[in-house]
Parts: sequence; structure tokens; C-alpha cells
Amino acid sequence: MASFKDVIGHEQIIAHLSNSLKNNKVSHAYIFSGEDGTGKNMLAKLFAKALQCEAGYGDSCGMCHSCKQVDSGNQPDIRWVTHEKPASIGVDDIRMQVNNDIAIKPYSSKYKIYIIDEAEKMTPQAQNALLKTIEEPPSYAVILLLTNNAQLLLPTISSRCVTLNMKAIAPDKIQSYLMNNYEIPDYKAKICASFAQGNMGKAIKMATSPDFNEMHERVLNLVKNVDDMDVYVVVDAVKKLSEYKAEIYDIIDMMMVWYRDIIMLKLTNDPNLLIYPEEYNALLRRASKSTFEGLDTIIQAMEKCKVRLRANVNFDTALEMMLLTIKEN
Ligand SMILES: [Zn+2]
Repeated sequence: MASFKDVIGHEQIIAHLSNSLKNNKVSHAYIFSGEDGTGKNMLAKLFAKALQCEAGYGDSCGMCHSCKQVDSGNQPDIRWVTHEKPASIGVDDIRMQVNNDIAIKPYSSKYKIYIIDEAEKMTPQAQNALLKTIEEPPSYAVILLLTNNAQLLLPTISSRCVTLNMKAIAPDKIQSYLMNNYEIPDYKAKICASFAQGNMGKAIKMATSPDFNEMHERVLNLVKNVDDMDVYVVVDAVKKLSEYKAEIYDIIDMMMVWYRDIIMLKLTNDPNLLIYPEEYNALLRRASKSTFEGLDTIIQAMEKCKVRLRANVNFDTALEMMLLTIKEN
């Protein structure tokens, strides 16, 4: 991604940022909010590049001195705030890298930009230290906070920032991007786009994973057979899934694609709208077994399973509960 015009999706955010540049109405602080993989870092980087671009027309030109510096990773007036401790951004990180530095005028550009990734990791003390700067920033300062959990930011910080919420990208756009840029075959690109639910980073990660084929085969095997499995076979299937503990959320999301297809089929009876049109008969059989309510319960059981795993409920227990709910509905 070299400039805003290369970005897939995010039209509203880009229009907003681009207009603020053109009209000279740039705010001093922004929050880029969205789950991992949704494009926060990319957009913040492109915004910083456009802010510093010497051509100054609402996007970056890619030709000027500043744009070239950004491309080679050494634009001195764009600072990515780092932190020593992986789990938290402390008050010293903010004081040393932001508060004590911000009074020094930009080295060669119009703005001085601070990008704080994983901003939710700032301790309350760090946030209070940052607040002082956000309350009275020098005219040239722009602070970009990137976060996957904006609720962990103090209201006093949020209220002084322009918040940009990342939006889901249309599956067909993700699909064609995967096909054009990663040479992914169309059936696989379609599955990955559907699985990712609008999250481009997640789609790319899955599409390029060396484990994709094996995981996908296992998931299909499981969703096709789980209804006929005895409970002890389910327990056994869960044991096998535990090999994929690190990817378990992806596996559950892959399973969801299957059940969303069943719902789609029940609603429309149109095989063209399916992610798995070649599984029409199997999907139809499954669709006749459940009511909409039952299918809704299944989708909810999957979401619940993810929540339980995040809360460190025992892996086997969480998955068995999910699979048994699928069987019962
Ligand atoms: Zn430029």
C-alpha cells in the first residue's frame, strides 16, 4: 500500500482524512479503532505519509523527499512509540518518547507525528501523562492512537480524539484482492473472504497459511459428520482439534462459514449464494434438520465457545459443549 488510492475498502475513513488534509482541518489526536487485521496500522501509516507529503493534495505523492523517507522507513518526523514491556506501555515510555520530545519542532516536515500502536496497553498513569500533551499540543503535533479495544482508553482521552472505527470490507472485494495479489484460487479466496468477515488481515493470513488445506479439510469433515457422531467420538474429535490450539478461533470461524451457508440455503434455496455450492446436497440435508432458531443457537454456541476460550475455560470442555449444542440443534 503506497497511498490511500491503493486501499481496498475504508472509503469513508479515507474521505474524512483526505478532506481534513485538503481543508487544513487536521485534528491533533486520532483513535484508529478496530480488531487486529482490520487495517489500522496501514491507514495510520498512509495518513502520516499524506500529512507529511510535500505535494500536499490530500494523499501522498510517492515522489517527494518525505514520501521517499517514509517508504524507506526513516521519516524523522514520524515516530512510532515503542515499549520495553510487551504487555504494557508505561508512563516512562510516554514521557520519554512523547512528552519530552514533542516540544522539539519538526526536523524537516510540516507536522510531528506520534503513532502509538496497541494504545490499549497504556497504563492509566501513561494515559494521564499523554492527556496533558493532548490537552495542549503544539500546533504541529499529531498523535495517532491505534487500538483493538478503545474502551480501555480513558474517557478524558477519547473525548479529545477523533475516533475512526474500522469497517468491514465487502467479501467480494477481499476475494478479488486475494486472487489478484496472492494468486489464490477462487474457491479458496471465497472461503477465506467469507471466513474473515470483512477483516482483510485475517483473510490474508488464512489464505497464505501453509496449514490452510489440512485445517479446512478437518473442519469440513467435522461439520459434515458431527451430527452422526456418538458422544465419545465427539470427545475424540476434540482431542484431535487440540493439535490446533493456537488456531482454534480460526477453526471455529471456519465452521461458522458452513452454518452460515446452511442458513443462507434455508432462506433462499439458491446454490449460487453459497460459499460451498458443491456441497449443496449435504447442506440441504443439514438445513432440513434444523429450525432457524436451532441454527441461531448453533452460531451463538460458537461465539460462546470463543468467549469461554478467551476466559481460559478448559479447552476440551468449551469445545465439547459447542459440538454437543450443534448435535442437539
Ligand atoms: Zn509526497
